[in-house]
Amino acid sequence: MPGAKDDIGLVIRAAQFAAHKHKDQRRKDVKATPYINHPINLAEVLHTDGRVHDPIVIAAALLHDTIEDTKTTYDELRGAFGATVADVVIEVTDVKFLADESRKRLQVAKAGRASERARLVKLADKICNLRDILASPPAGWSLARQQKYFDWAKQVVDQARGVNPELERMFDRLYRQRPVG
Ligand code: ZN
Repeated sequence: MPGAKDDIGLVIRAAQFAAHKHKDQRRKDVKATPYINHPINLAEVLHTDGRVHDPIVIAAALLHDTIEDTKTTYDELRGAFGATVADVVIEVTDVKFLADESRKRLQVAKAGRASERARLVKLADKICNLRDILASPPAGWSLARQQKYFDWAKQVVDQARGVNPELERMFDRLYRQRPVG
């Protein structure tokens, strides 16, 4: 069994790996925030607000967009962090070859079958995305597009409920601020 020290090591390595993979990417907000801020925000929300202290979840949160948004492969993650972490990341990864609408529908369906760890990462992801949109909407996003995103995020979260009441309440508070123009 890995000790607490190794657990912190896993989380640090995940942060380092994600920072390297996302190094040339920016968020879609007008300030073009470095992409890595997003996975770090997930880890912080999980740890501080959700009181999630499972290093597997924190590491998976840090890595959650590496397969979807960089050239990282499942095997690469498994080799570096083990199958348990890599499997959580795969669970929260969208299928790229599908059209936007199907991808969104699939994410709702998948959330309902996801493991507890994957649900936690999903919840934190949607919390962070709603918070980002409220603070500074992505460049060029109309009000309707923002509203659509909020509604879709709620569908995903509604499927993922039952794992962390505090995070679910946090999401609901953000959803109530859905932009109305
Ligand atoms: Zn994300």
